[in-house]
Amino acid sequence: MPTLFERIISGEIPSDRIYEDEICVAFRDIAPQAPTHVLVVPRKPVQALDDHLDAALAGHLLVVANKVAQCEGLADGYRVVINCGSDGGQSVDHLHLHVLGGRSLNWPPG
Ligand code: AMP
Repeated sequence: MPTLFERIISGEIPSDRIYEDEICVAFRDIAPQAPTHVLVVPRKPVQALDDHLDAALAGHLLVVANKVAQCEGLADGYRVVINCGSDGGQSVDHLHLHVLGGRSLNWPPG
């Protein structure tokens, strides 16, 4: 069964896509937790951060997360979050980076 994010990447499920390249896509989260809340998702179906993630892919996703933040005008800062596994709060089994910004974010997270 393809994951929700595979179905979004293929275009089967619509999304508000703001960036894409040959390795990943970025689209707005459907339930934003901040004025800017974008998900950066690899095209390759990696299940989670602990699923044999290779360094080149991880680095690329971080570079794109920063690119998204710059494009969204998050000059005062932003946060990148990767939830991993059930204790980490991961609800979609396809690796994704949350890029959050546009307001002052609390720390620590819940
Ligand atoms: P996580 O809980 O870290 O696995 O994050 C999954 C994220 O996917 C949540 O922030 C959801 O709001 C988001 N999400 C779920 N369905 C969609 C969708 N159809 N389009 C965009 N974002 C979605």
